[in-house]
Amino acid sequence: MTRAWNFSAGPAALPEAVLRRAQQELLEWNGSGASVMELSHRGKRFMALAADAEARLRRLLDVPDGYTVLFLQGGATQHFAQIPMNLAGPEDHADYIVTGHWGEKAVREAAPYLDARVAATSVDTDYLRLPPRDAWVLSPGAAYVHYTPNETIHGVAFRDIPDVGDVPLVADMSSNILSEPIDVSRFGLIYAGAQKNIGPSGLVVMIMRDDLLARAGRPMANIFRYAEHAANDSMLNTPNTWGWYLAGLTFEWLEGQGGLAAMGQTNARKAGTLYGAIDGSGGFYRSPVDVPARSRMNVPFTLHDPALDAAFLAESEDAGFLALKGHKAVGGMRASLYNAVPLDAVNELVKFMRDFATRHG
Ligand code: PMP
Repeated sequence: MTRAWNFSAGPAALPEAVLRRAQQELLEWNGSGASVMELSHRGKRFMALAADAEARLRRLLDVPDGYTVLFLQGGATQHFAQIPMNLAGPEDHADYIVTGHWGEKAVREAAPYLDARVAATSVDTDYLRLPPRDAWVLSPGAAYVHYTPNETIHGVAFRDIPDVGDVPLVADMSSNILSEPIDVSRFGLIYAGAQKNIGPSGLVVMIMRDDLLARAGRPMANIFRYAEHAANDSMLNTPNTWGWYLAGLTFEWLEGQGGLAAMGQTNARKAGTLYGAIDGSGGFYRSPVDVPARSRMNVPFTLHDPALDAAFLAESEDAGFLALKGHKAVGGMRASLYNAVPLDAVNELVKFMRDFATRHG
């Protein structure tokens, strides 16, 4: 068996230890006589698993009292629409900070449900920079401010949590959750699709300040209502039990790695190694993103001659590196460095890049 060095943007690499544990337990889990996938979510064993995963996530992120944790489905995309449905009425407005593809999509999906205003955008820089905070035009009375701390495709990230006063801050953390410690108390709502730093796709983790659960929103089916999911411990209907199980194993693995402080240090080192190699390549490789806005999770880069792209991709794949092709919206290459990508993988990639540059320079 050969597992490649996997730089996929998502679904992304999972910790090998988690996959091995799942493999071991696949046919018979925890004395139950069946796979975890074959058991009722209402059974004692699964309920205990669910509570344990939530407790681990709360510990990892140091979630303060007064926040509800939900394990939902629908991908982050469904929640682009469901968040405005729940947090605002049709006559309300909300502010969106757009710093890349996913922020654009969040506004578009919110627009049928409220007045979704673009309070700041960096589209004029091709999303290579962040819009300066003093240029944001936040509107009085906004139901919330939405932003994307890490834009997966453009590789642009906020290092600091923006100050938006008393308005609840809503963050799509799909591609940076659990990558370093964060101050959850600064947020009204955090949500993330699981398939980068949590587990397999098909699961969405949401952390929501309790007072926001009480917002009336509008008439809608219970299945769309976060307060109903909360009242039913995320078991209003059948949850993604397999995703929840793997998320729990990932949280346990993260605790074993020393928690988010340790992950943050490793992630800074991984990103520093790769950006260092790009910047030190004498122009053979280039990172187009404004230095202070560079993401630690997703590193887009270009080759000085795009005619070499095909050779880079073919040779890197032969050398055991997976998924380095950039998103078609930006072209070039992209290496995603989520938690499950070890420093060794980045060191090997950098070695390959230097060697490629020597051979093709
Ligand atoms: N937001 C961000 C930041 C993402 O990276 C992605 C997926 N790559 C999404 C939202 C959409 O997630 P999903 O496909 O799970 O709906």
